[in-house]
Amino acid sequence: MAATITGVGVGLGLSCSSKLTNRFSSSAGSSRCSVKMSVSVEEQRKNFTLKKSEEAFNVAKELMPGGVNSPVRAFKSVGGQPIVFDSVKGSHMWDIDGNEYIDYVGSWGPAIIGHADDQVLAALGETMKKGTSFGAPCLLENVLAEMVISAVPSIEMVRFVNSGTEACMGVLRLARAFTGRERIIKFEGCYHGHADPFLVKAGSGVATLGLPDSPGVPKGATYETLTAPFNDVSALENLFENNKGEIAAIILEPVVGNSGFIAPKPDFLNAIRRITKENGALLIFDEVMTGFRLAYGGAQEYFGVTPDLTTLGKIIGGGLPVGAYGGRRDIMEMVAPAGPMYQAGTLSGNPLAMTAGIHTLKRLKEPGTYEYLNKITGELTQGIIDAGKKAGHAICGGYISGMFGFFFTEGPVYNFEDAKKSETTKFARFYRGMLEEGVYFAPSQFEAGFTSLAHSSDDIQHTIAAAEKVLRQI
Ligand code: PMP
Repeated sequence: MAATITGVGVGLGLSCSSKLTNRFSSSAGSSRCSVKMSVSVEEQRKNFTLKKSEEAFNVAKELMPGGVNSPVRAFKSVGGQPIVFDSVKGSHMWDIDGNEYIDYVGSWGPAIIGHADDQVLAALGETMKKGTSFGAPCLLENVLAEMVISAVPSIEMVRFVNSGTEACMGVLRLARAFTGRERIIKFEGCYHGHADPFLVKAGSGVATLGLPDSPGVPKGATYETLTAPFNDVSALENLFENNKGEIAAIILEPVVGNSGFIAPKPDFLNAIRRITKENGALLIFDEVMTGFRLAYGGAQEYFGVTPDLTTLGKIIGGGLPVGAYGGRRDIMEMVAPAGPMYQAGTLSGNPLAMTAGIHTLKRLKEPGTYEYLNKITGELTQGIIDAGKKAGHAICGGYISGMFGFFFTEGPVYNFEDAKKSETTKFARFYRGMLEEGVYFAPSQFEAGFTSLAHSSDDIQHTIAAAEKVLRQI
């Protein structure tokens, strides 16, 4: 990835037609979603205060561990106190002090068509009139299942759950049940939720907080978890050589988002596919982040590599709690009650999550969506990297469709060790500066960023201009 940008899809270069622009801005809905910030940057900067956020967070700290319900939200790696939000719409967010931000977190991925989309909200309203949870089959499950199966190449049958963590827990049990083996391989810096067997070199919040592993995870739970550096085929071959006939599966983020954005080297995914086949192990793509984000059919469609099993989350719930795992029919038929592998969930497949997912996927299926995401994300990533270099910083980064990242290091970044060379204190200064300019990135160097169909050219230009200014100052 060197110091240059690694937009795998850079060449597509389709421009956003006026038809698209209109559709996206109108679909974003309320006047809050206008392409321009509702106050001028100068005004926002002059009046920038997080007083109410600070007060609320001080109260929260007494009520919830660290004041949050998910660790990375606590801003530990960028300093200062986290921002407490009041509302979201389109590509923008408003905090309780009245500051407005262009958002590149998108609720950590789900908001790919923009926050609080009018059509999704209207559909949720209709569904809600009939109730919020049946704890029994509903027609909407069939609709979303059909959409997921027809979109994602590897998925012939699917099981809905309530989070990405649950999806990864389920898929791991399934891979072990199907192969009769217990060892798994994961990659350093890849995050597959917070279940015990995955909390080994897990990236994301674990990396941000510098926890080697988590206390409370029994040795026995991670004993069968082997790790290798991302993009390292020979390390993988050694693991198979030393654990002959014992490896149930490899699980990976096909494009890493939980160590910052790291793309696979050109033949890495093909090599893993070959090695797993040769060794009778299953290949699992954790597409909780990349599913419906890199392409409608996820990373597996984008790269043309089909795994045996896939996990999904985030986007397929359109902002409501959801997860899913699916894959080859012969494997999925092991899942209870079709087969003996037990997994269940009180709220799984509930009508609200299904509705938000269905309407989000419908929008994504419209022509031009991924080209639009690729175009604006390319402009954004290139703009930030150019601004960084111009200001004399070591910086590199990349993007694919609506997912991007940059590191304060010369690069190339091929794995978590490379990512850790990044100057995180500089990132923290950059981060705080960007907040004051009305731009909300993920509060960690080790998280990918996300764009949405609601991001306008003005949003992107505003962000680049802010980055130019902040990068000159830090
Ligand atoms: N897998 C991946 C690749 C993820 O990015 C995440 C969450 N960021 C998860 C699993 C866990 O999902 P959840 O937070 O919904 O439990």
